Amino acid sequence: MAALKPPMNNPQDSGFSPELLAQIELETKMLQLQEMKRSIKEREDAEEQVRLSRQAGVEATKVAMREQAAKQANCPHLKENGRSHLAGQYDNARNLVLICQRCQRKFVNNEAPTHLVQGIMEMVGGPQ
Ligand SMILES: [Zn+2]
Repeated sequence: MAALKPPMNNPQDSGFSPELLAQIELETKMLQLQEMKRSIKEREDAEEQVRLSRQAGVEATKVAMREQAAKQANCPHLKENGRSHLAGQYDNARNLVLICQRCQRKFVNNEAPTHLVQGIMEMVGGPQ
């Protein structure tokens, strides 16, 4: 079995000309640089995707909140028969919490107009 040759530390031993060795070294460094650039680009692209995805989520939430606010602003909180669309209960702190069953607007304690509270208090429950 042939013994392993020691690594060639001296370029003169490789049989390649100094010009060719310089060219190989240059091309190796260029390939390494390209690989680093590609890696950086991939990371930046991934970060951009995350940013865009997050931004889209924020925008969707803003749109949903605007739509909900508009729906609540235009809701009479009344059923078609003219009765209140609110329902609710007292919480543990004895706050009256009423929610419109149509637009989900929440009214706490005295926030609900009187005409929306009339006729529903007998159905309001909660902790005793
Ligand atoms: Zn409503």
